[in-house]
Amino acid sequence: MPVGQIVKAISGFYYVRTDGGDMLQCRARGVFKFDKKKLTPLVGDIVEFEKTGQNEGVVTSVQPRRNELIRPPIANVDQAVVVCSLRQPRFQQMPVDRFLVHGEREGLDLVIVLTKRDLLKNNGEIERISAIYRPAGYKVIATSVVTGEGMDELKAVLAGKVSVFAGQSGVGKSSLLNHLLPGMQLLTGQVSKKIARGRHTTRTVELLPMETNGQVADTPGFSQLTFQGFEPTELGDYFPEIRERAPECRFRGCLHTGEPGCAVKAALEQQEIDEKRYQNYTQFLAEIKDALARR
Ligand code: GDP
Ligand code: ZN
Repeated sequence: MPVGQIVKAISGFYYVRTDGGDMLQCRARGVFKFDKKKLTPLVGDIVEFEKTGQNEGVVTSVQPRRNELIRPPIANVDQAVVVCSLRQPRFQQMPVDRFLVHGEREGLDLVIVLTKRDLLKNNGEIERISAIYRPAGYKVIATSVVTGEGMDELKAVLAGKVSVFAGQSGVGKSSLLNHLLPGMQLLTGQVSKKIARGRHTTRTVELLPMETNGQVADTPGFSQLTFQGFEPTELGDYFPEIRERAPECRFRGCLHTGEPGCAVKAALEQQEIDEKRYQNYTQFLAEIKDALARR
């Protein structure tokens, strides 16, 4: 049975890109049972299909997913690009840390992209931010769609992967996508999407191909950034610089908030862990405990 990938889904139709690069408009054959769960096909799914016409087909089965994001609904995502502007608005660490935690929980590769580099006179701010995130293992790329700076590096990071962009509104996500995917197709797509939203029609997501063999979702990811469903003990796993040190804490299940023999607190005192990152960790921990208490 031939295999393809769903790149777009609209009102019961699945657009499947075949290995040969053709696009087929498909219906799904009922609901698929997988792991005893019912499975509706998602954008990003690798599926088996039968051709029923020149450009038409039927999806007959969905292959196991590596992961599945809820917002936007998309399967088999490799990477999240966490976008934050340097100016207009100024860099804000709290939302970046929130996006990173959610991305870590989904098991995604993560990269931080700073936008609007052209609005800064020097590299001071970029170096300050890099010093926070590089020790945690995150790549930081400073970009500008005005000067084109950083775009080649970003393209290299997107190559061969399925990526979603995440970040607060106004930081420059759409501008980056338009720069990465020039051409009328996306522009009309974006415009029609805005119109569709105005009419309260269902939002759609589409995986757009890049020259470098990567794909990007045209809808930003992780708009929901609460910690619902998180356990306090798992939060440390989503901060690499905490995760790395936690095995050396005296107590298993240490939450790193003042327990004796805490390796994380020790690293913080040695300034090996960024103070603001740790503050955000404790802030998120409080939110998780709060949500649990209210359950
Ligand atoms: P989104 O809400 O994250 O999709 O952000 P947009 O892409 O709509 O950008 C928000 C605003 O920032 C727009 O007015 C853009 O023109 C501006 N902008 C985006 N990228 C850059 C950049 O690299 N440099 C400058 N100076 N402005 C930018
Ligand atoms: Zn600890």
